[in-house]
Amino acid sequence: MAYDLNNVFAKILRGEIPCRKVHETPHALAFHDINPQAPVHVLVIPKGAYVSMADFAAHASADEQAGFVRAIGETATALGLVEPGYRILANHGHHAHQEVPHLHIHIFGGRPLGPMLEGGSKPKRA
Ligand code: AMP
Repeated sequence: MAYDLNNVFAKILRGEIPCRKVHETPHALAFHDINPQAPVHVLVIPKGAYVSMADFAAHASADEQAGFVRAIGETATALGLVEPGYRILANHGHHAHQEVPHLHIHIFGGRPLGPMLEGGSKPKRA
């Protein structure tokens, strides 16, 4: 999947379309998903033009990488999700149904989230 300069998240970063911002740092922006799949559903994106985690890992600077990871944790904290728990997820490419070709991490929370994958089951506690 190639980076498309006109993807919806690039437009949000350029201020061409609005978003409901949660958190912003020099290297990352967090905002509410427009079609939430959980009571809390927030997206965290790097500000640079990276299509996937593989692209980001190969080409982003160390500062960008550290800043992005830090922003994900800060966003979960700001949303009050650390104590009750939350899930982070990223879709990459065709098999994962990636819709927007700009790297994004989903943060889900606000209720028990069920199995990790469709058809999966939760491991039993020891
Ligand atoms: P993915 O399938 O991982 O590429 O997810 C893309 C996500 O972007 C979906 O959850 C969409 O609901 C979300 N989305 C699409 N357009 C917008 C938008 N303008 N603002 C916020 N979230 C969006």
